[in-house]
Amino acid sequence: MGRYTGPVCRQCRQVGEKLYLKGERCYTPRCAIEKRRNTPGASRPSRRRPSDYAVRLREKQKLRYTYGLREHQFLRNVVQAQKRPGITGQYLLQLLERRLDNVVYRLNFSDSRAQARQMVLHGHYTVNGRKVDIPSFVVKAGDEIGWKDSSMERDFAKAVKEGIPKRTIPRWLELDADNMKGRVANLPEEGDIDTAVDTRLIVEFYSR
Ligand code: SF4
Repeated sequence: MGRYTGPVCRQCRQVGEKLYLKGERCYTPRCAIEKRRNTPGASRPSRRRPSDYAVRLREKQKLRYTYGLREHQFLRNVVQAQKRPGITGQYLLQLLERRLDNVVYRLNFSDSRAQARQMVLHGHYTVNGRKVDIPSFVVKAGDEIGWKDSSMERDFAKAVKEGIPKRTIPRWLELDADNMKGRVANLPEEGDIDTAVDTRLIVEFYSR
């Protein structure tokens, strides 16, 4: 299945929660979830109790939409997490959180993960001094994330620098706002990830 190109607010309405996919707008009354809570296509909220399958599917979609992944990309992460000893759900969250596009977003270098992905693809960032233009690149402890010198001269980079900090930086990352650099201090632990999903349900969804 190709990448979803429709209105992203529809994804929030589909799962019935704010997923903060649109940057600034998500924090204003213009947020679609604030205006209409019903599922897309339904004139009013359903009163039927959702099936077990629907509950698990919703949880999986929530996480997939949050990180903006296609189904097969998400599945690849699930399979990788399943192969690891330990708690699959926790490792899945850690893998998603360590994606370069997410790290760029978490460091406040972009307004949304979608914008971060585009900027990574355009080659604006470096990892340990080398340009990396792969949004799914997985960072490790000790890695340094910075801007390419030529990108730092651009107006949007200056605007980002003036706007920092917008959101709280998670404990596992360190930000040097003056030099527009970030560092992965540790790998994220369960408590460091603020994505409110029940990963147990997601693992169950893929164990059917
Ligand atoms: Fe979701 Fe943001 Fe749209 Fe609100 S504005 S529905 S949080 S993407």
